[in-house]
Amino acid sequence: MSDQAEPGARTLPPSLFGRAGQAVARGLRVLAARLWASLWQVVAVAVIMAALAAVAHLPVALALTAFVSFVAAVVLLPRQDSDQAFNDALESPIALGRTASAMHVMAEALPDPLILLSPAGQVLFCNAPARGLFASLREGSHISSVIRTPEFLDAVSAAPGLGEAVTVSYAERVPVGRRMAATVAPLTQGTESGDILVLLRDLTEGERINQMRADFIANASHELRTPLASLRGFIETLQSSAKEDNGARERFLPIMADQASRMTRLIDALLSLSRVEMNAHVPPSDLVDLNDVMDHSKDTLEPLVSDMDFQLEVSRFPRPAMVLGDRDELVQVLQNLVHNALKYGDKGGKVRMEAKHIPSLGRQAGRYAIAVIDNGPGIAPEHLPRLTERFYRVDVASSREKGGTGLGLAIVKHILNRHRGELVIASEPGKGSTFTIMVNEAGGV
Ligand code: ADP
Repeated sequence: MSDQAEPGARTLPPSLFGRAGQAVARGLRVLAARLWASLWQVVAVAVIMAALAAVAHLPVALALTAFVSFVAAVVLLPRQDSDQAFNDALESPIALGRTASAMHVMAEALPDPLILLSPAGQVLFCNAPARGLFASLREGSHISSVIRTPEFLDAVSAAPGLGEAVTVSYAERVPVGRRMAATVAPLTQGTESGDILVLLRDLTEGERINQMRADFIANASHELRTPLASLRGFIETLQSSAKEDNGARERFLPIMADQASRMTRLIDALLSLSRVEMNAHVPPSDLVDLNDVMDHSKDTLEPLVSDMDFQLEVSRFPRPAMVLGDRDELVQVLQNLVHNALKYGDKGGKVRMEAKHIPSLGRQAGRYAIAVIDNGPGIAPEHLPRLTERFYRVDVASSREKGGTGLGLAIVKHILNRHRGELVIASEPGKGSTFTIMVNEAGGV
Protein backbone atom coordinates (compact mmCIF):
# COMPACT_ATOMS: atom_id res chain seq x y z
CA MET A 1 0.00 0.00 0.00
CA SER A 2 2.78 2.39 0.81
CA ASP A 3 4.56 1.28 -2.41
CA GLN A 4 1.45 2.25 -4.32
CA ALA A 5 1.25 5.55 -2.57
CA GLU A 6 4.91 6.43 -3.02
CA PRO A 7 5.09 7.00 -6.83
CA GLY A 8 1.81 8.93 -6.77
CA ALA A 9 2.93 10.96 -3.80
CA ARG A 10 6.38 11.72 -5.20
CA THR A 11 5.20 12.74 -8.66
CA LEU A 12 7.57 15.68 -8.63
CA PRO A 13 11.18 14.59 -9.33
CA PRO A 14 13.21 15.42 -6.27
CA SER A 15 16.39 16.81 -7.83
CA LEU A 16 18.60 17.10 -10.89
CA PHE A 17 20.74 14.17 -9.73
CA GLY A 18 17.62 12.11 -9.16
CA ARG A 19 16.37 12.86 -12.67
CA ALA A 20 19.77 12.05 -14.27
CA GLY A 21 19.89 8.77 -12.32
CA GLN A 22 16.40 7.84 -13.51
CA ALA A 23 17.36 8.56 -17.17
CA VAL A 24 20.50 6.36 -16.94
CA ALA A 25 18.58 3.50 -15.30
CA ARG A 26 15.90 3.67 -18.00
CA GLY A 27 18.60 3.58 -20.77
CA LEU A 28 20.21 0.48 -19.22
CA ARG A 29 16.83 -1.24 -19.02
CA VAL A 30 16.19 -0.52 -22.75
CA LEU A 31 19.59 -2.09 -23.66
CA ALA A 32 18.88 -5.13 -21.50
CA ALA A 33 15.45 -5.55 -23.14
CA ARG A 34 17.01 -5.52 -26.63
CA LEU A 35 19.65 -8.09 -25.56
CA TRP A 36 16.95 -10.30 -24.07
CA ALA A 37 14.83 -10.10 -27.25
CA SER A 38 17.82 -11.26 -29.40
CA LEU A 39 19.16 -13.84 -26.96
CA TRP A 40 18.85 -16.83 -29.35
CA GLN A 41 20.71 -15.04 -32.18
CA VAL A 42 23.47 -14.07 -29.72
CA VAL A 43 23.83 -17.68 -28.55
CA ALA A 44 23.86 -18.95 -32.17
CA VAL A 45 26.56 -16.49 -33.23
CA ALA A 46 28.63 -17.45 -30.16
CA VAL A 47 28.40 -21.14 -31.10
CA ILE A 48 29.28 -20.46 -34.75
CA MET A 49 32.28 -18.33 -33.79
CA ALA A 50 33.52 -20.98 -31.32
CA ALA A 51 33.14 -23.70 -33.98
CA LEU A 52 34.98 -21.62 -36.58
CA ALA A 53 37.80 -20.95 -34.12
CA ALA A 54 38.06 -24.63 -33.19
CA VAL A 55 37.52 -26.28 -36.58
CA ALA A 56 38.53 -23.72 -39.21
CA HIS A 57 41.35 -22.23 -37.05
CA LEU A 58 39.80 -18.76 -37.22
CA PRO A 59 42.01 -16.58 -34.96
CA VAL A 60 40.39 -16.27 -31.51
CA ALA A 61 40.83 -12.48 -31.49
CA LEU A 62 39.01 -12.22 -34.80
CA ALA A 63 36.20 -14.51 -33.63
CA LEU A 64 35.82 -12.52 -30.40
CA THR A 65 35.80 -9.18 -32.28
CA ALA A 66 33.09 -10.46 -34.61
CA PHE A 67 31.01 -11.72 -31.67
CA VAL A 68 31.36 -8.48 -29.68
CA SER A 69 30.45 -6.42 -32.80
CA PHE A 70 27.33 -8.54 -33.26
CA VAL A 71 26.29 -8.11 -29.64
CA ALA A 72 26.94 -4.36 -29.86
CA ALA A 73 24.80 -4.12 -33.01
CA VAL A 74 21.98 -6.01 -31.29
CA VAL A 75 22.11 -3.87 -28.21
CA LEU A 76 22.72 -0.43 -29.69
CA LEU A 77 20.65 -0.42 -32.89
CA PRO A 78 17.04 0.48 -32.10
CA ARG A 79 14.58 -2.41 -32.54
CA GLN A 80 11.04 -1.38 -33.02
CA ASP A 81 9.54 -4.63 -31.63
CA SER A 82 11.53 -4.93 -28.41
CA ASP A 83 11.56 -1.18 -27.73
CA GLN A 84 7.80 -1.05 -28.23
CA ALA A 85 7.34 -3.98 -25.90
CA PHE A 86 9.54 -2.32 -23.30
CA ASN A 87 7.71 0.96 -23.61
CA ASP A 88 4.39 -0.84 -23.33
CA ALA A 89 5.63 -2.49 -20.17
CA LEU A 90 6.64 0.85 -18.75
CA GLU A 91 3.72 2.81 -20.08
CA SER A 92 2.15 3.94 -16.86
CA PRO A 93 5.43 5.02 -15.15
CA ILE A 94 6.36 6.98 -18.30
CA ALA A 95 2.98 8.66 -18.33
CA LEU A 96 3.47 9.38 -14.67
CA GLY A 97 6.93 10.72 -15.37
CA ARG A 98 5.56 13.03 -18.06
CA THR A 99 2.85 14.30 -15.71
CA ALA A 100 5.51 14.74 -13.08
CA SER A 101 7.75 16.82 -15.28
CA ALA A 102 4.81 18.94 -16.51
CA MET A 103 3.84 19.57 -12.88
CA HIS A 104 7.44 20.30 -12.04
CA VAL A 105 7.68 22.90 -14.83
CA MET A 106 4.37 24.44 -13.76
CA ALA A 107 5.37 24.56 -10.12
CA GLU A 108 8.71 26.16 -10.98
CA ALA A 109 6.97 28.74 -13.21
CA LEU A 110 4.64 29.92 -10.43
CA PRO A 111 5.57 33.41 -9.23
CA ASP A 112 4.67 32.59 -5.61
CA PRO A 113 6.58 30.26 -3.30
CA LEU A 114 5.18 26.69 -3.31
CA ILE A 115 6.30 23.84 -1.06
CA LEU A 116 5.10 20.22 -1.11
CA LEU A 117 5.25 18.49 2.27
CA SER A 118 4.83 14.89 3.35
CA PRO A 119 2.07 14.32 5.95
CA ALA A 120 4.82 14.49 8.58
CA GLY A 121 5.95 17.95 7.40
CA GLN A 122 9.05 16.83 5.47
CA VAL A 123 9.84 19.00 2.41
CA LEU A 124 9.34 16.87 -0.74
CA PHE A 125 9.63 19.67 -3.26
CA CYS A 126 10.03 23.45 -3.30
CA ASN A 127 9.97 25.78 -6.32
CA ALA A 128 12.46 28.55 -7.13
CA PRO A 129 10.54 31.42 -5.38
CA ALA A 130 10.37 29.25 -2.21
CA ARG A 131 14.12 28.60 -2.38
CA GLY A 132 14.60 32.37 -2.91
CA LEU A 133 12.50 33.13 0.18
CA PHE A 134 14.31 30.71 2.50
CA ALA A 135 18.01 30.27 1.76
CA SER A 136 18.19 27.21 4.02
CA LEU A 137 15.14 25.40 2.59
CA ARG A 138 16.17 21.86 1.55
CA GLU A 139 14.22 18.92 0.18
CA GLY A 140 14.22 16.28 2.90
CA SER A 141 14.38 18.75 5.78
CA HIS A 142 11.43 19.48 8.05
CA ILE A 143 9.40 22.62 7.27
CA SER A 144 9.87 23.81 10.86
CA SER A 145 13.54 24.43 10.03
CA VAL A 146 12.44 27.48 8.01
CA ILE A 147 8.99 28.46 9.33
CA ARG A 148 8.72 28.15 13.08
CA THR A 149 5.53 30.15 13.65
CA PRO A 150 3.09 28.08 15.77
CA GLU A 151 0.00 29.19 13.74
CA PHE A 152 1.59 27.83 10.56
CA LEU A 153 2.93 24.60 12.09
CA ASP A 154 -0.46 23.92 13.70
CA ALA A 155 -2.14 24.34 10.30
CA VAL A 156 0.33 21.86 8.75
CA SER A 157 -0.23 19.23 11.46
CA ALA A 158 -4.00 19.66 11.22
CA ALA A 159 -4.09 19.59 7.39
CA PRO A 160 -4.23 15.80 6.75
CA GLY A 161 -7.12 15.38 9.19
CA LEU A 162 -8.94 18.54 8.09
CA GLY A 163 -9.26 17.60 4.42
CA GLU A 164 -9.59 21.20 3.18
CA ALA A 165 -7.34 24.18 2.54
CA VAL A 166 -6.87 26.79 5.25
CA THR A 167 -5.07 30.13 5.04
CA VAL A 168 -3.16 31.46 8.01
CA SER A 169 -1.27 34.73 8.25
CA TYR A 170 1.72 35.20 10.48
CA ALA A 171 4.55 37.63 11.14
CA GLU A 172 8.26 36.84 10.87
CA ARG A 173 11.04 38.81 12.48
CA VAL A 174 14.05 37.04 10.95
CA PRO A 175 15.75 37.23 8.49
CA VAL A 176 13.62 40.34 7.80
CA GLY A 177 10.42 41.56 9.40
CA ARG A 178 7.54 40.58 7.11
CA ARG A 179 3.93 39.43 7.16
CA MET A 180 3.11 36.27 5.28
CA ALA A 181 -0.06 34.39 4.33
CA ALA A 182 0.21 30.61 3.95
CA THR A 183 -2.46 28.49 2.27
CA VAL A 184 -2.08 24.95 3.56
CA ALA A 185 -3.95 22.40 1.39
CA PRO A 186 -3.96 18.63 2.00
CA LEU A 187 -3.76 16.70 -1.31
CA THR A 188 -6.33 14.09 -0.49
CA GLN A 189 -8.58 14.21 -3.56
CA GLY A 190 -7.90 11.26 -5.89
CA THR A 191 -4.83 10.21 -3.96
CA GLU A 192 -4.22 8.44 -0.72
CA SER A 193 -0.94 10.26 -0.17
CA GLY A 194 -2.06 12.92 2.30
CA ASP A 195 0.80 15.15 1.16
CA ILE A 196 0.36 18.85 1.87
CA LEU A 197 0.70 21.74 -0.54
CA VAL A 198 1.82 25.04 0.95
CA LEU A 199 1.42 28.29 -1.01
CA LEU A 200 3.00 31.39 0.48
CA ARG A 201 2.29 35.07 -0.18
CA ASP A 202 4.28 38.03 1.12
CA LEU A 203 1.76 40.56 2.47
CA THR A 204 4.34 43.09 3.67
CA GLU A 205 4.41 45.42 0.65
CA GLY A 206 0.62 45.40 0.19
CA GLU A 207 0.05 46.14 3.88
CA ARG A 208 2.66 48.91 3.81
CA ILE A 209 0.93 50.57 0.84
CA ASN A 210 -2.48 50.23 2.53
CA GLN A 211 -1.05 51.76 5.70
CA MET A 212 0.49 54.64 3.72
CA ARG A 213 -2.83 55.25 1.98
CA ALA A 214 -4.72 55.22 5.29
CA ASP A 215 -2.14 57.57 6.89
CA PHE A 216 -2.32 59.90 3.92
CA ILE A 217 -6.11 60.14 4.06
CA ALA A 218 -6.02 60.60 7.84
CA ASN A 219 -3.39 63.36 7.52
CA ALA A 220 -5.16 65.13 4.66
CA SER A 221 -8.51 65.04 6.49
CA HIS A 222 -6.90 66.28 9.67
CA GLU A 223 -5.18 69.16 7.83
CA LEU A 224 -8.50 70.17 6.25
CA ARG A 225 -10.61 69.62 9.34
CA THR A 226 -8.64 72.10 11.50
CA PRO A 227 -9.27 75.24 9.40
CA LEU A 228 -12.78 74.04 8.64
CA ALA A 229 -13.59 73.68 12.36
CA SER A 230 -12.17 77.16 12.96
CA LEU A 231 -14.27 78.64 10.14
CA ARG A 232 -17.45 76.99 11.44
CA GLY A 233 -16.72 78.30 14.94
CA PHE A 234 -16.40 81.90 13.68
CA ILE A 235 -19.51 81.57 11.50
CA GLU A 236 -21.56 80.30 14.46
CA THR A 237 -20.26 83.12 16.69
CA LEU A 238 -21.09 85.72 14.06
CA GLN A 239 -24.55 84.23 13.68
CA SER A 240 -25.29 84.19 17.41
CA SER A 241 -23.49 86.06 20.22
CA ALA A 242 -21.53 88.44 17.96
CA LYS A 243 -24.42 89.06 15.57
CA GLU A 244 -24.48 92.78 16.14
CA ASP A 245 -20.83 93.12 17.16
CA ASN A 246 -19.03 95.08 14.42
CA GLY A 247 -15.72 94.94 16.25
CA ALA A 248 -15.82 91.14 16.46
CA ARG A 249 -16.70 90.93 12.75
CA GLU A 250 -13.72 93.14 11.89
CA ARG A 251 -11.43 90.88 13.94
CA PHE A 252 -12.85 87.57 12.77
CA LEU A 253 -13.11 88.13 9.02
CA PRO A 254 -9.35 88.35 8.33
CA ILE A 255 -8.80 85.19 10.39
CA MET A 256 -11.57 83.43 8.47
CA ALA A 257 -10.04 84.53 5.16
CA ASP A 258 -6.72 83.17 6.38
CA GLN A 259 -8.22 79.77 7.21
CA ALA A 260 -9.96 79.63 3.84
CA SER A 261 -6.63 80.37 2.07
CA ARG A 262 -5.01 77.62 4.10
CA MET A 263 -7.61 75.15 2.86
CA THR A 264 -7.16 76.37 -0.71
CA ARG A 265 -3.38 75.95 -0.46
CA LEU A 266 -3.78 72.45 0.89
CA ILE A 267 -6.23 71.41 -1.82
CA ASP A 268 -3.97 72.92 -4.50
CA ALA A 269 -0.99 71.00 -3.09
CA LEU A 270 -2.98 67.74 -2.94
CA LEU A 271 -4.11 68.21 -6.55
CA SER A 272 -0.53 68.99 -7.61
CA LEU A 273 0.73 65.87 -5.90
CA SER A 274 -1.91 63.65 -7.43
CA ARG A 275 -1.26 65.12 -10.92
CA VAL A 276 2.46 64.41 -10.64
CA GLU A 277 1.81 60.92 -9.29
CA MET A 278 -0.56 60.15 -12.16
CA ASN A 279 2.17 60.99 -14.69
CA ALA A 280 4.98 59.39 -12.69
CA HIS A 281 5.53 56.59 -15.22
CA VAL A 282 5.54 58.92 -18.27
CA PRO A 283 8.93 60.62 -18.49
CA PRO A 284 8.65 64.18 -19.86
CA SER A 285 9.70 64.60 -23.49
CA ASP A 286 9.92 68.39 -24.05
CA LEU A 287 13.29 70.07 -24.45
CA VAL A 288 13.55 72.67 -21.70
CA ASP A 289 16.33 75.17 -20.98
CA LEU A 290 17.02 75.27 -17.23
CA ASN A 291 18.16 78.92 -17.55
CA ASP A 292 14.64 79.75 -18.71
CA VAL A 293 13.20 77.75 -15.76
CA MET A 294 15.40 79.72 -13.33
CA ASP A 295 14.47 83.09 -14.88
CA HIS A 296 10.76 82.30 -14.82
CA SER A 297 10.87 81.09 -11.20
CA LYS A 298 12.72 84.25 -10.18
CA ASP A 299 10.17 86.49 -11.96
CA THR A 300 7.18 84.80 -10.31
CA LEU A 301 8.80 84.81 -6.85
CA GLU A 302 10.04 88.41 -7.04
CA PRO A 303 6.95 90.04 -5.39
CA LEU A 304 7.05 87.54 -2.50
CA VAL A 305 10.80 88.01 -2.10
CA SER A 306 10.49 91.76 -1.74
CA ASP A 307 7.38 91.43 0.45
CA MET A 308 9.36 89.29 2.86
CA ASP A 309 12.31 91.63 2.69
CA PHE A 310 14.69 89.04 1.20
CA GLN A 311 17.28 89.16 -1.53
CA LEU A 312 17.25 86.50 -4.24
CA GLU A 313 20.48 86.06 -6.19
CA VAL A 314 20.54 83.88 -9.27
CA SER A 315 23.68 82.60 -11.02
CA ARG A 316 22.63 80.98 -14.32
CA PHE A 317 24.37 78.35 -16.49
CA PRO A 318 26.88 80.00 -18.85
CA ARG A 319 25.26 78.25 -21.85
CA PRO A 320 21.75 76.89 -22.53
CA ALA A 321 21.20 73.94 -20.21
CA MET A 322 18.88 71.63 -22.11
CA VAL A 323 17.04 68.79 -20.36
CA LEU A 324 14.07 66.61 -21.23
CA GLY A 325 11.48 68.03 -18.88
CA ASP A 326 8.13 69.58 -18.09
CA ARG A 327 8.76 73.31 -17.80
CA ASP A 328 5.85 74.03 -15.42
CA GLU A 329 6.82 71.18 -13.10
CA LEU A 330 10.48 72.27 -13.00
CA VAL A 331 9.38 75.84 -12.25
CA GLN A 332 7.24 74.47 -9.41
CA VAL A 333 10.29 72.61 -7.99
CA LEU A 334 12.34 75.82 -7.80
CA GLN A 335 9.39 77.84 -6.49
CA ASN A 336 8.78 75.33 -3.67
CA LEU A 337 12.47 75.31 -2.68
CA VAL A 338 12.87 79.10 -2.77
CA HIS A 339 9.54 79.54 -0.99
CA ASN A 340 10.76 77.25 1.82
CA ALA A 341 14.01 79.24 2.05
CA LEU A 342 11.93 82.40 2.47
CA LYS A 343 9.49 80.81 4.93
CA TYR A 344 12.08 79.30 7.23
CA GLY A 345 14.88 81.86 6.74
CA ASP A 346 15.29 84.99 8.87
CA LYS A 347 13.61 88.11 7.57
CA GLY A 348 16.04 90.27 5.63
CA GLY A 349 18.07 87.21 4.66
CA LYS A 350 19.58 86.13 1.38
CA VAL A 351 18.66 83.20 -0.87
CA ARG A 352 20.88 82.07 -3.75
CA MET A 353 20.03 79.91 -6.77
CA GLU A 354 23.30 78.51 -8.10
CA ALA A 355 23.66 76.58 -11.36
CA LYS A 356 26.40 74.06 -11.99
CA HIS A 357 27.13 71.63 -14.84
CA ILE A 358 28.44 68.21 -13.77
CA PRO A 359 30.27 66.65 -16.75
CA SER A 360 29.58 63.01 -17.65
CA LEU A 361 31.72 60.52 -15.78
CA GLY A 362 32.18 57.00 -17.16
CA ARG A 363 28.70 55.67 -17.90
CA GLN A 364 27.01 58.41 -15.84
CA ALA A 365 25.46 61.01 -18.17
CA GLY A 366 26.31 64.69 -17.72
CA ARG A 367 24.00 66.46 -15.25
CA TYR A 368 22.78 69.92 -14.48
CA ALA A 369 22.55 70.88 -10.82
CA ILE A 370 20.69 73.85 -9.33
CA ALA A 371 21.28 74.54 -5.64
CA VAL A 372 18.91 76.69 -3.57
CA ILE A 373 20.98 77.98 -0.67
CA ASP A 374 19.72 79.86 2.36
CA ASN A 375 21.32 81.12 5.55
CA GLY A 376 18.29 80.24 7.66
CA PRO A 377 18.14 78.16 10.87
CA GLY A 378 19.20 74.89 9.21
CA ILE A 379 17.77 71.43 9.94
CA ALA A 380 18.96 68.79 12.46
CA PRO A 381 20.40 65.66 10.75
CA GLU A 382 17.74 63.26 12.11
CA HIS A 383 15.04 65.06 10.11
CA LEU A 384 16.86 65.10 6.76
CA PRO A 385 15.90 61.59 5.53
CA ARG A 386 12.19 62.19 6.24
CA LEU A 387 11.71 65.72 4.87
CA THR A 388 10.26 64.52 1.54
CA GLU A 389 7.58 62.36 3.23
CA ARG A 390 4.07 63.74 2.84
CA PHE A 391 3.05 65.93 5.77
CA TYR A 392 6.41 65.51 7.51
CA ARG A 393 7.42 68.75 9.20
CA VAL A 394 10.25 69.53 11.60
CA ASP A 395 7.95 71.87 13.52
CA VAL A 396 4.25 71.53 12.67
CA ALA A 397 3.17 74.76 14.36
CA SER A 398 5.88 76.84 12.70
CA SER A 399 5.07 75.32 9.27
CA ARG A 400 1.34 76.08 9.68
CA GLU A 401 2.03 79.58 10.94
CA LYS A 402 4.11 80.23 7.80
CA GLY A 403 1.41 78.85 5.51
CA GLY A 404 3.10 75.47 5.01
CA THR A 405 1.17 72.35 4.02
CA GLY A 406 3.87 69.72 4.62
CA LEU A 407 3.58 68.69 0.97
CA GLY A 408 6.07 71.03 -0.75
CA LEU A 409 9.09 68.73 -0.65
CA ALA A 410 6.98 65.62 -1.40
CA ILE A 411 5.88 67.36 -4.62
CA VAL A 412 9.53 68.26 -5.40
CA LYS A 413 10.58 64.63 -4.92
CA HIS A 414 7.80 63.26 -7.13
CA ILE A 415 8.51 65.74 -9.92
CA LEU A 416 12.22 64.87 -9.82
CA ASN A 417 11.41 61.12 -9.83
CA ARG A 418 9.37 61.68 -12.98
CA HIS A 419 12.38 63.51 -14.49
CA ARG A 420 14.70 60.66 -13.36
CA GLY A 421 16.41 63.39 -11.34
CA GLU A 422 17.55 63.67 -7.75
CA LEU A 423 17.19 65.91 -4.69
CA VAL A 424 20.13 66.22 -2.31
CA ILE A 425 19.64 68.03 1.01
CA ALA A 426 22.57 69.32 3.05
CA SER A 427 21.97 71.26 6.23
CA GLU A 428 23.31 71.93 9.67
CA PRO A 429 21.51 73.73 12.48
CA GLY A 430 22.62 77.34 12.58
CA LYS A 431 24.40 77.13 9.23
CA GLY A 432 21.56 77.26 6.71
CA SER A 433 20.41 74.68 4.19
CA THR A 434 21.24 73.73 0.62
CA PHE A 435 18.63 71.89 -1.48
CA THR A 436 20.21 70.73 -4.74
CA ILE A 437 18.25 69.30 -7.64
CA MET A 438 20.03 67.32 -10.38
CA VAL A 439 18.63 66.43 -13.81
CA ASN A 440 20.40 64.59 -16.66
CA GLU A 441 21.37 66.76 -19.64
CA ALA A 442 19.39 65.96 -22.79
CA GLY A 443 21.44 63.55 -24.92
CA GLY A 444 23.03 64.90 -28.10
CA VAL A 445 22.14 68.54 -27.46
P1 ADP B 1 6.00 72.84 4.44
O1 ADP B 1 4.81 73.17 3.65
O2 ADP B 1 5.71 72.54 5.87
O3 ADP B 1 7.10 73.82 4.25
P2 ADP B 1 7.72 71.02 2.98
O4 ADP B 1 7.45 69.66 2.49
O5 ADP B 1 8.01 72.05 1.95
O6 ADP B 1 6.49 71.42 3.86
O7 ADP B 1 8.92 70.98 3.99
C1 ADP B 1 8.91 70.03 5.02
C2 ADP B 1 9.60 70.55 6.26
O8 ADP B 1 10.99 70.69 5.98
C3 ADP B 1 9.15 71.92 6.66
O9 ADP B 1 8.00 71.86 7.47
C4 ADP B 1 10.35 72.45 7.43
O10 ADP B 1 10.29 71.93 8.75
C5 ADP B 1 11.52 71.78 6.72
N1 ADP B 1 12.20 72.69 5.76
C6 ADP B 1 12.02 72.71 4.43
N2 ADP B 1 12.82 73.63 3.84
C7 ADP B 1 13.53 74.21 4.83
C8 ADP B 1 14.53 75.22 4.88
N3 ADP B 1 14.97 75.85 3.79
N4 ADP B 1 15.06 75.53 6.08
C9 ADP B 1 14.63 74.93 7.22
N5 ADP B 1 13.68 73.95 7.24
C10 ADP B 1 13.14 73.60 6.06
